[in-house]
Amino acid sequence: MLPVIALVGRPNVGKSTLFNRLTRTRDALVADFPGLTRDRKYGQADYDGYEFIVVDTGGIDGSEQGIETEMAEQSLLAIEEADIVLFLVDARAGMTAADQAIANHLRKQQKKCFVVANKVDGIDADSYCAEFYQLSLGDVHHIAAAHGRGITQLLETTLQPVIAELAGEAEELEESDDELVDLYSEDEEGEDNQQAFADKPVKLAIIGRPNVGKSTLTNRILGEERVIVYDMPGTTRDSIYIPMTRNDKEYILIDTAGVRKRKKVSDVVEKFSVIKTLKAIEDANVVLLVVDAREGISDQDLSLLGFALNAGRSLVVAVNKWDGLDDYVKERIKSELDRRLGFIDFARLHFISALHGTGVGHLFESVDEAYESATKRISTAMLRRIMDMAQADHQPPLVRGRRVKLKYAHAGGYNPPRIVIHGNQVHDLPDSYKRYLMNYYRKALGIMGTPIKIEFREGD
Ligand code: GDP
Ligand code: GDP
Repeated sequence: MLPVIALVGRPNVGKSTLFNRLTRTRDALVADFPGLTRDRKYGQADYDGYEFIVVDTGGIDGSEQGIETEMAEQSLLAIEEADIVLFLVDARAGMTAADQAIANHLRKQQKKCFVVANKVDGIDADSYCAEFYQLSLGDVHHIAAAHGRGITQLLETTLQPVIAELAGEAEELEESDDELVDLYSEDEEGEDNQQAFADKPVKLAIIGRPNVGKSTLTNRILGEERVIVYDMPGTTRDSIYIPMTRNDKEYILIDTAGVRKRKKVSDVVEKFSVIKTLKAIEDANVVLLVVDAREGISDQDLSLLGFALNAGRSLVVAVNKWDGLDDYVKERIKSELDRRLGFIDFARLHFISALHGTGVGHLFESVDEAYESATKRISTAMLRRIMDMAQADHQPPLVRGRRVKLKYAHAGGYNPPRIVIHGNQVHDLPDSYKRYLMNYYRKALGIMGTPIKIEFREGD
């Protein structure tokens, strides 16, 4: 499980600067639902080999309003959702009343929390930062986010032990069944492993923005099937895992909408949690993204899809509320979806009405297909033959007067399928040819619903 790190602090201390430095994606996910006065930004961090989710809380300005009201909105939620809080202060500006108010709040939380003094470039860090020890939150770590200074050290010496500890705890809780998956993906000859893998329930995460119809769909699916429901204990950031059987196959629905929650969730803030959704994606085998036909694809949907793609998850898209639309509107929506979802053209689109049940049954055909595609065992001989065919049909381009040559292909893993291709000058292959190869493999192998990753290696 990816740890979640929240950046908090008053405005202008450098949270966004640090956020941008930590996240590899420019397309951070912004949660700006009604009910939130300020945005929270979510990004995937991959800094110096460390991976985690980072949350930027915008700014907390505790000075004028009283900290509770100011923090109540997005920062409290971000802190609650986080495993680790980085409390940023400005070394140049010195300690302020707002810093102290934030510190008072953080001291009351049961959270791993670290004071990080930013902007130490060009000043004597030790003497400028000494006063922050008065915040009574332990050591003060020095960084210059704008220059990337001190960040690796912070991660290595301070955060890594905490992350490792959290990972250990998570593992104990989960009794990780993922070992099987690892075993299988590493072992080319592992027939037995494959069998065990295929027998495991498919974990299906139902995700999407508030009000698209996730709860309605989940209830519809559960209502039609024999289910044994048990509530897993958890916090607001945890999804509910619901085992179910359908046509003698076992699934586990990962319910991000919290259908089975006892207490009625009234506000949208509590109902939708980005972290909950990201964790569900991370834990799923197949992601079912639900969108509202009338609303179309939002930037948030695209960000969620980006996360799912990065995680290599199989994907099915349900366009919900397809009832009561006239043909003209339907056509318009379809072409708009085609345009915006071009980058996940491997995913099946279903037009459904969760309310009336139309099309819901067919979703599982695509879920099964996606999962089977993702875990399909493909022989080296087959991968090589397809590579040769692709090359014969359309040869790779010349680069600096020499033809790129693909020599050998083999499987690099499953879920999602990974193909390793060795050859000469392969790193110079243009993206268009890489896409061509991917589509060629996809067609030849009949793989749908899952991304295919091709890795190129120079030499034989
Ligand atoms: P936020 O409001 O906390 O998100 O702060 P920003 O990231 O927007 O940064 C506020 C200002 O501080 C910007 O002008 C940044 O360029 C500047 N800043 C951020 N990090 C550093 C740093 O390491 N050194 C210096 N000198 N300035 C910085
Ligand atoms: P969630 O927040 O994603 O879980 O969304 P809900 O399942 O709570 O649905 C939000 C609203 O959309 C409710 O009023 C539902 O009745 C309505 N809704 C859900 N599915 C459909 C559908 O297929 N057609 C129509 N017309 N309305 C729907």
